[in-house]
Amino acid sequence: MQRGDSRKRTFTTVIAGVLAATAVLTAAAAENKTGTARGRGAVDTSESPHVLLRSLPMSDVRWTGGFWADRFALCRESMLPTLHGTLLDPKCSAQLNRIKFTAGLCEENPGGVNWADGDCYKWIETMAHVYALTEDAKLDRLMDEWIAVIAKAQDPDGYISTNKGQDTTARLQMPYFHEMYNFGHLLTAACIHHRATGKTSFLDVAVKLADFLHREYESNPPRLVHFPWNPSVYMGLIEMYRTTGNRDYLETAKTMIDNRGTKPGGHHRNGGTDQTQDRVPLRRETEAVGHAVCGTYLYCGAADLYAETGEKAIRDALRRIWQSIALRKMDVTGSVAMGGGRSTRGDPVHEAFGPDYAQPNEYNETCANIGNGMFNYRMLSLDGDAKYADVMERVAYNCLNASVDLKGENWFYCNPLAWDGTPGQKHHTGLRWRTNNCYCCPPSVGRTTAKIHNWFYGISKDGLWVHLYGGNQLATALADGSPLGLVQRTDYPWDGKVTLVVEAAGDKPFAIRLRIPGWAEHAGLKINGRPFDGAVEPGSYAKIARRWKPGDVVELNLPMPVRLMEAHPKVEKLRNKVAVMRGPLVYCLELPKRDDGQRIWNDGVFLPENIQLEPEHRKDFLGGVTILKGTALTFKGRDRFVKDTAAAAAPKPADADNRLYRPLAPRALKPANEGTVEISLIPYYAWANRGLSMMEVWIPLAR
Ligand SMILES: [Zn+2]
Repeated sequence: MQRGDSRKRTFTTVIAGVLAATAVLTAAAAENKTGTARGRGAVDTSESPHVLLRSLPMSDVRWTGGFWADRFALCRESMLPTLHGTLLDPKCSAQLNRIKFTAGLCEENPGGVNWADGDCYKWIETMAHVYALTEDAKLDRLMDEWIAVIAKAQDPDGYISTNKGQDTTARLQMPYFHEMYNFGHLLTAACIHHRATGKTSFLDVAVKLADFLHREYESNPPRLVHFPWNPSVYMGLIEMYRTTGNRDYLETAKTMIDNRGTKPGGHHRNGGTDQTQDRVPLRRETEAVGHAVCGTYLYCGAADLYAETGEKAIRDALRRIWQSIALRKMDVTGSVAMGGGRSTRGDPVHEAFGPDYAQPNEYNETCANIGNGMFNYRMLSLDGDAKYADVMERVAYNCLNASVDLKGENWFYCNPLAWDGTPGQKHHTGLRWRTNNCYCCPPSVGRTTAKIHNWFYGISKDGLWVHLYGGNQLATALADGSPLGLVQRTDYPWDGKVTLVVEAAGDKPFAIRLRIPGWAEHAGLKINGRPFDGAVEPGSYAKIARRWKPGDVVELNLPMPVRLMEAHPKVEKLRNKVAVMRGPLVYCLELPKRDDGQRIWNDGVFLPENIQLEPEHRKDFLGGVTILKGTALTFKGRDRFVKDTAAAAAPKPADADNRLYRPLAPRALKPANEGTVEISLIPYYAWANRGLSMMEVWIPLAR
């Protein structure tokens, strides 16, 4: 516990004043060995030497209203109690009472799967994130209660697993028993609990566990070289290093990452193949391969390692892997993971990244999609390139929110981009479920929703970076310790107007950078009513450097015309199809069976290339969404339209660039008036809330 610097203490003073939270902070500090835990971010890069953008303390951004405030409230009021109830439900694969049984606090073994512990820890992490913003005493007590159980379930030497006596009597024998998954989520949840509450009860458990792992890996025994599953442990260990300052944990994570790919040729359950990113050493990797949760978590862990060590070979590999995902293997929603098959190097893979240009992926496991967002958040912190924030935003709106229903109670494991109206089976269903035989996704959605405000801002040496937009109040400290307070007002993502009002600022000039999304052509920017004279380019940050004072107003206007998106010509499955986007949102055509959807589906729905889709905000529909209304074509209308427009000049071929998705260039044609059907599109995230339906994101194009 040696970390902490004067900058943190300055921050604590500032925040205590701004948020009038002195009493809470003092109470927390009394129990807090470092005295600075509450000055740290969810991914704590506050002292990482090799990041460009440092994270903000977890409680510095607070929701004030709008889209994400509603999502946070949904998480607190519905997702959290639902997760709790389900983790106690005997039908669920993840079982809180398994920990009780291991602790000797209940007679009966409730069963459950061998990765159940990790899912329980993610639930505690969700509570800790919510607590960081709410100081909800009930959550604090509930966390205390379960942390005491976890502490009792731990062996004296630090090892902890509820698998004992089930899959194995020995420790660390088989990677696929998911001990590393469970460890990783314990370590992360304990760091977050410590940062949120200042308490060390969970951190003490985590220290013992991390010390155990360090002892096991210190001599790097051959048996542990092939131990590749569940890289959540790398993030957990590095976060433990950041929390405690103990370099052993960083070294252990590095050893684990260095081991990967050094013994190729095995079986997907125990390592050596592409399934677990274990055929090729990470530093030499050129593409994203294998299990997409393991993959994205490995890339996150490696980015965390780079943030601390600055090893160029790792950063270069991560940049190559990012290109492989974002330019060749990602869906328009930001989702990844095509399912099963073989890697390009011939290994059997499942729940895996697809080959290049194989979209749309229909598997898209929730945790993998969120992992893609987490990876982009880390790359953004390293490089400050807006392209990472674009992916992060895509994932946040279109993947994260799609994985849970509007009640915050039911979940998706797979996130298909088309559905045929059938119920489906196992992971691949047309209706979200309450419980499942693999419960990894729901607590991932919970913890990410609860902490998403951590993705909104970054701090560099010269100022503040605004990555995402949503109504919130920021009260933080800049790199030099000077205070910064501002309020962000917006109805984003329904409207592209964002107003920032400075509430507190020091005397020295600094920069505020605003992200101009890659999709936002012709963005407008004003400061105190006067047009900004610097660059405002899509896919970059507009940098406003000046002496700021309370009352300064920044107005950003991001126009949100409806865009028909086409995929790169190499994506064969998407030829002559378009996805509809407005702002950051991907839309879908959903035809609920109960609303005559079957008939409309059978008659066919085609989007003429010149379709006019009009936005209409509906407060009382699907939790309040902007829908898009327009006139599409049936099979009959499509044939007629194609005939009528055959004489027009041929459509312009798409630009020969490497973008995976790009706006279609429509021709000026007369609107179709025969064989038409009125349609309305809804945001993709809101689908499957009206019973079984036919749904598609990629809609056939008429031209
Ligand atoms: Zn999952």
